[in-house]
Amino acid sequence: MGYPEPMTTRDAAAALDADDPLAPFRDLFDLRGGVYLAGNSLGPPPRAVRAAVERLVGETWPGELVGGWTQDGWIDLPAVLGDRIGRLVGASEGQTVVADSTSVNLFKVLAAALALRPERTEVVTEAGNFPTDVYIAGGLARQTGRHRLTVVDDGGDVASAIGPDTAVVALSHVGFRDGRLLDLPGVTAAAHAAGALAVWDLSHSAGVVPVALDGAGVDFAVGCTYKYLNGGPGAPAFLYVARRHQGDAAQPLSGWMGHARPFALELGYDPAPGIGRMLTGTPPVVALAVLEAGLDVALRGDIEAVRRKSLALSELLIALVEERCAGLGVSLVSPRQPERRGSQVCFRHAHAYPVVRALIERGVVGDFREPDVLRFGLAPLLLRYVDVWDAAEALHDVLATGAWDRPELKVRRRVT
Ligand SMILES: *Cc1c(COP(=O)(O)O)cnc(C)c1O
Repeated sequence: MGYPEPMTTRDAAAALDADDPLAPFRDLFDLRGGVYLAGNSLGPPPRAVRAAVERLVGETWPGELVGGWTQDGWIDLPAVLGDRIGRLVGASEGQTVVADSTSVNLFKVLAAALALRPERTEVVTEAGNFPTDVYIAGGLARQTGRHRLTVVDDGGDVASAIGPDTAVVALSHVGFRDGRLLDLPGVTAAAHAAGALAVWDLSHSAGVVPVALDGAGVDFAVGCTYKYLNGGPGAPAFLYVARRHQGDAAQPLSGWMGHARPFALELGYDPAPGIGRMLTGTPPVVALAVLEAGLDVALRGDIEAVRRKSLALSELLIALVEERCAGLGVSLVSPRQPERRGSQVCFRHAHAYPVVRALIERGVVGDFREPDVLRFGLAPLLLRYVDVWDAAEALHDVLATGAWDRPELKVRRRVT
């Protein structure tokens, strides 16, 4: 794979945009200026979302009222949108549903996975995993009272930590703090070789990194839809259960929507035969209408082309920052090898928080991650090469002028 050479002019970046087959996607989003490098935290709205919401609240909901559940297919949305996400993560139909939050879904799939390995007592994860994932695994272990959580050092060798007691290996495909891409097929195979199950969180890879859940033999997966899938703030998440486990997967939040016959309103719980048993309560139809508009955009992009552009953008950002900001205290945190990165680039700086705030003042929106990380998400469907150029220039300006060194920029906001 070839990447653009480090370049010396903004025009050279503009020339890459002129050649970019994904460039037309940018127009599908409601972007209001600036350079948005936080699409990995909250994706921007697709333009089509307005009409989708208006149709629901202005026509279908008032027009059909309770009949909308069947006439407009609201009740089927978790499965229908789940299958569409499945196409983005290499899952054939009937294995993916949309519901709840990533945290809640992780709880459900981890519990189901542990129950499939009743003789085993350990969950293995890694310190680079997203904190909610570690909290959920720890909380579940406390609740069962018979599991322990083993947290491998950040960047440590997970495969060698898997032993005969390991029931489940639970990891994030891309590290939120450093953008590191884990070896999903390799770790999954190592887990299976030791008799354990593999649970993956695809929050930072769905839609930007090719994933082959079926191909890699993954057992369970979860992921977020408000990042690269542009599903809207707090959009419902997804979960995947490999077909071979569906008949035996028992999840603890056994609500009526996971029942084989929810509207029979029987007193006894009889789980739905397939992936439907992973559902709990009533689908959030308004949120799902918003998410659907996001998925429409994501599904129009060829994932291989998206990955190529993602890596080209990240190579360019690294090259420009290292060239323009040399001697200004920034160092690369993300892996230098493109194949080992997700779709974000992170740098360390001693004053990362006010640097991020000063960049935001200049219209370059990235985010800060504890303790000292500047994080730049590269959403290939909305970013241009000139945006990367402008971001590197702004970073140079903020660092070279000391524009970050103002007391008001150092006061932490509640969401960073
Ligand atoms: C964003 C993200 C989440 C979010 O979980 P919520 O339950 O939606 O708050 C979970 N895991 C990972 C790895 C994430 O990146």
